[in-house]
Amino acid sequence: MPSPTIGVFALQGDVREHLRMLTDLGVDALAVRRPAELAACDGLVLPGGESTTMAKLARTFDLFEPLHDRIASGMPTFGTCAGMILLADRIEDGSPGQETFGGLDITVRRNAFGRQVDSFEGNLDFVGLDDPVHAIFIRAPWVEEVGPGVEILAEVPAGEAAGRIVAVRHGHLMATSFHPEVGADARIHRIFVDLVSQTRAR
Ligand code: GLN
Repeated sequence: MPSPTIGVFALQGDVREHLRMLTDLGVDALAVRRPAELAACDGLVLPGGESTTMAKLARTFDLFEPLHDRIASGMPTFGTCAGMILLADRIEDGSPGQETFGGLDITVRRNAFGRQVDSFEGNLDFVGLDDPVHAIFIRAPWVEEVGPGVEILAEVPAGEAAGRIVAVRHGHLMATSFHPEVGADARIHRIFVDLVSQTRAR
């Protein structure tokens, strides 16, 4: 089978880093700004950025409903940071009226790690990977609550936020609070690419 086409939502956010990582993994990576581009995708990445702006731009560019519908009907989707917020069914500390595409049965808390500590990094264990991941958090959300069937892939190991959930998977949907597209470690993207390939093979 030819390599899958994976889109990166590209109206706002750290699009380039995801495109590069996917390309390095041998995937046809595509910046998605229009419904026709979305239609060409077997899977999609929702990058980090500003979740309220991303949702508003999706409305403006007629991508909101198509995205919601593709996610709801089984397109593998990977959200990082703001992308995790956009996949979540419920938000705490969102802006008034903040919309998400939804699909992932979790509650996320936006900017959860506090305003003084805007960003930090650390190593954490990730289900399915032998060695820890170096995780970079930038004004990140955490997962406050997961619905039944949602698998927890990673938690903060130590410090004030110890035990907070920062990576999850449920069926075709995956999300991390941190930014696996930064740096050279492609293992988490590899997990997502495999998920897209398995979904296509069915
Ligand atoms: N704080 C941002 C938001 O709420 C997310 C930050 C990020 O994606 N790095 O949308």
